[in-house]
Amino acid sequence: MGARNGKQFLQRLDSTPREIWYGDKKVTGSVSEHPAFRGVARSIAALYDLQMKPELREAMTYKSPTTGDPVGLSFLQPRTREDLAKRTWMMKTWADYSGGIMGRTADYLNSSIMAMAAAKDFFGNEGRDYSSSIVRYYEYVRENDLLLTHTLINPQTNRGVGPSKQADPFIAARVVEKKSDGVVIRGARMLATLPMADEIMVFPSTVIRSGQDDVPYSIAFALPVSAKGLKFICRESFASDSAYDHPLASRFDEQDAVVVFDDVLVPWDRVFILEDPEKANRVSEATGAVVFMAHQATVREAAKAEFVAGLATLVAETIGADQFPQVQEKISDLLLTAETMKAFLSASEANAAVNGWGLMTPDYIPINSARNLWPKVAPTLAIVLKQIGASGLMAIPPEEILGSPARPEVDKYYQAKLADAEERIRLFKLAWDVAGSSFGGRQDLYERFFFGDPVRMASAYYAWYNKEPFKERVKELLHRKD
Ligand SMILES: Cc1cc2nc3c(=O)[nH]c(=O)nc-3n(C[C@H](O)[C@H](O)[C@H](O)COP(=O)(O)OP(=O)(O)OC[C@H]3O[C@@H](n4cnc5c(N)ncnc54)[C@H](O)[C@@H]3O)c2cc1C
Repeated sequence: MGARNGKQFLQRLDSTPREIWYGDKKVTGSVSEHPAFRGVARSIAALYDLQMKPELREAMTYKSPTTGDPVGLSFLQPRTREDLAKRTWMMKTWADYSGGIMGRTADYLNSSIMAMAAAKDFFGNEGRDYSSSIVRYYEYVRENDLLLTHTLINPQTNRGVGPSKQADPFIAARVVEKKSDGVVIRGARMLATLPMADEIMVFPSTVIRSGQDDVPYSIAFALPVSAKGLKFICRESFASDSAYDHPLASRFDEQDAVVVFDDVLVPWDRVFILEDPEKANRVSEATGAVVFMAHQATVREAAKAEFVAGLATLVAETIGADQFPQVQEKISDLLLTAETMKAFLSASEANAAVNGWGLMTPDYIPINSARNLWPKVAPTLAIVLKQIGASGLMAIPPEEILGSPARPEVDKYYQAKLADAEERIRLFKLAWDVAGSSFGGRQDLYERFFFGDPVRMASAYYAWYNKEPFKERVKELLHRKD
């Protein structure tokens, strides 16, 4: 089949049965028409349409090595710097569609599975041929242009002890039984963004301690979301039908769900790591998946910083606040953030090198630095919008006011230097959806945590970064004789 268009995505979404719980109800019927999902489903469809546009298709797809059909470019295993540049261009085009607001466009996990397939030998074939399974899975996802979600984290029950020491050893998802046709999994994982995906990857993230009790939790596998016993329990939706009132929430609420495995059978060809803490702890770094995921994330973060800088500038200009030096300084901070993320990207691509698995890989020093800096600077995006928008962010009456008898007052008192009332309210609602609405709050949390706990990431960065040359320079100066 190869690269999909939006209609094909929606058709598969609606024809794939899945157990999604929303409040006290199981979602039945068409997922793409459910109020919690329809806005984002349309946005995802629009992204797939984008890659099939005649003027973009050449740059957004490449020829499948197995069928010759066009397939999505984020599946491309880069061998040259030009390949990397093509990937970046494609990812930026998708990211710009939502102003970098959608975190889980398909290219995020496509990048991961692409890298893991190149590193197939990491998975090995002791006992079972896990290396062939990961390659077949990558090819299956690529050739059908499937949308993946993933879940890495055990439920937040008691972080003080490992999964086997929780009140119940089956809270965190784990192996229950190995059968001739696959492995049975019971327990839960938290969290999976995008329950309207086609497939779910269940991979390790937090370090598994080496004790024997934690071995059953050391697993990596993938399943169709229709797998029997697989359940998604959603949070409250922030979606809305009014694009005027909620310009982002109405389009981009990707939804987050806790995933329950009620004795789910994972067929052997979908198992990639089994009861192997050493492999589980290393998979992300050793395969290069983390670099390619972080590369995609940096592209999106640059897009988001640019978008919010543009939004803050428009807000300031609209109300004539752009002339004040402190407002200019705040917007400059956003521009600096955008430029910093782009500089990390450029450096990572300029110093790219072929990794141990043959992929032209962005330099991990700038990419890992971007990954660690982003959770610290991302909250500033919302802070600056609040500082500049001030009370204007609360002068955002619901859309219905525009058709009400109060319209003349609205037209008079909500107008701004550079916009009539309707346009000014529209703009400030967008700013609020980034900075303060429920949707905006979720965005803030997402940027802080989506790539892991920033505290532990910072510790890992500290341990990983080669500080020796810097220390040597200091020591040399301390003991300089002249
Ligand atoms: C909006 C959103 C969407 C997400 N989507 C996904 C998704 O699609 N797939 C997915 O797999 N994950 C997803 N995540 C989860 C994300 O991976 C985690 O939030 C992140 O890894 C941190 O884990 P945690 O939330 O369980 O925090 P916890 O580990 O519970 O941490 C809670 C607090 O305790 C501290 N802490 C906990 N343990 C330690 C320790 N050992 N040492 C030091 N400090 C510690 C942390 O610093 C933090 O302050 C999402 C998160 C958010 C917020």
